[in-house]
Amino acid sequence: MSDVRLAGVISASCEALLPCLCLHCGEPIGGDAVGLCGACWSTVIPRAGAACPHCAAPCDAEVKPCLACERQAPVQQGTVAWGEYDGALRSAVLGLKTHGRDELAVPLGRRLAARIAVEDWASDIELIAPVPSHPLRRLRRGWPAAATLALVAGRELSLPVRTLLKRRGLRRQTGRSRAEREMLPRRCFGAAGSVAGRRLLIIDDVTTTGTTLSRAAEALLAAGADTVYCAAMAVTPDARRAT
Ligand SMILES: [Zn+2]
Ligand SMILES: [Zn+2]
Repeated sequence: MSDVRLAGVISASCEALLPCLCLHCGEPIGGDAVGLCGACWSTVIPRAGAACPHCAAPCDAEVKPCLACERQAPVQQGTVAWGEYDGALRSAVLGLKTHGRDELAVPLGRRLAARIAVEDWASDIELIAPVPSHPLRRLRRGWPAAATLALVAGRELSLPVRTLLKRRGLRRQTGRSRAEREMLPRRCFGAAGSVAGRRLLIIDDVTTTGTTLSRAAEALLAAGADTVYCAAMAVTPDARRAT
């Protein structure tokens, strides 16, 4: 996906939506702020505390796996999540995810890229693959949030972004409980391109249980990928909340 095409998508959204109000507090947006007012952007901060390097769940120590991953590690080599899906970050991600506010991909995607860049494995990545949106969501809007975030992150990290995943079936995770999410069928994703021997990074907008990312990683590894890492813009702090 070229930068020219990315810029076109984002600028078209901006032109259609300016001037606008803060998606979180409703106050007018001033200056150069996008989507949120300056005061709300100041509350959008990276998640604090240690996280499991395999699945990004909160953990006692950054270098140790969480209890779930000690029992059974996910297939991906590592996972990072930038922030908690709460407050103004949740409003911004929802604006991008469900309200077509593609201009938010730039400030959010830059933050995600900076988080990915500090990982030891960041220099191993060859290609970025966004998690494909559900077909019914694609009918409502053209650019899925994961794809727009991946495009910006790819530009920041100087990595190509490719459509390497396709969804199988119509199962949705939105609105499901943690137990229901973890029952996402195996083979709900398939590889959509040649991935044999490649080192890949999957990007999604929000992760709750990590099951979607793991299933996507399984599909790419089954198709011959060498290694797969995962990154999400936000992780749901309370798994009972629907995304
Ligand atoms: Zn605000
Ligand atoms: Zn874990």
